[in-house]
Amino acid sequence: MTFLSGFIAIVGPPNVGKSTLLNRILGKKIAIVSPKPQTTRNRITGIRHEPGCQMVFMDTPGIHRTRTPLHKSMVNSAQSVFKEVDLLVFVIEMNHPEAPEIPMILSAIRKSKKPSILVVNKIDKGLKEKLLPIMAEYDETRSFKSIIPISALTGDGVENLLQELRSMLREGPPFFPEEVRTDQSESFLVSEMIREKIYLHTRKELPYSSAVTVERLEERPERDLVSISAKIHVESESQKGILIGQGGKMIKKIGETARENLERFFGSRVFLELLVRVDKNWSKDPRTLRRLGY
Ligand code: GDP
Ligand code: MG
Repeated sequence: MTFLSGFIAIVGPPNVGKSTLLNRILGKKIAIVSPKPQTTRNRITGIRHEPGCQMVFMDTPGIHRTRTPLHKSMVNSAQSVFKEVDLLVFVIEMNHPEAPEIPMILSAIRKSKKPSILVVNKIDKGLKEKLLPIMAEYDETRSFKSIIPISALTGDGVENLLQELRSMLREGPPFFPEEVRTDQSESFLVSEMIREKIYLHTRKELPYSSAVTVERLEERPERDLVSISAKIHVESESQKGILIGQGGKMIKKIGETARENLERFFGSRVFLELLVRVDKNWSKDPRTLRRLGY
């Protein structure tokens, strides 16, 4: 039985309906986590779980802030975001196919060489006869594996898009447990906080060969408690030995200091469980690296 997964960026000019589409794909409103300092590299905006497949949607901060669409650094910034994902979904609006940001994004898409889908949104609004010329024009650019007309508002065509996305996912692990659905910068912050303590206590022995994934994060406000289970991935048994320390001293120290930070962050009590796992070669596998936030 093979599992399919992938990281997907939804990009496009402002107001074309990216958020509306994402909300429809995820089936519920996205909770934007409070603006705590962002130390994380990944920006996950949502995760769609299906039997046998998982789609992880990423934000593309460089693109939304585009004021000077043709500026080279914008293309570079977009490209660096595109590097992290497996698939690109480029959304335009049927009634405004000429938005000023489009050339910059198109150019970054082409340079990225990532498999891309063009979504023409808002087909519920406007003249149907406008659609075919737009699709034909983009088809000529040969930049897209497929071009899909949708209405994010009514849901029309969204299943076609999902079908296409599924067909483009590669074999890969589920990156997140089932219950993870919305903005997960919180989880990433948690893993970063734990990693920081590993660095602090083990000094130079581990940081470049260890990583942390948060396996479970449950908020239980009725008990004033956040319950967290995290895995520390290392490359060898000897690293595992360093991390655990004599009689478990080291892992205990890491856990205690991390928990203090986490309690401040969540403003409640924290139960923190840390597991150490030997994951040979994890630092050489780009997909694992990405999953771990590198
Ligand atoms: P974003 O800036 O790309 O994230 O765009 P939003 O998702 O915030 O949508 C911008 C506006 O377009 C909102 O008022 C949406 O309700 C509207 N909108 C989004 N999708 C559709 C659609 O398929 N049809 C129509 N008629 N309006 C839409
Ligand atoms: Mg939006």
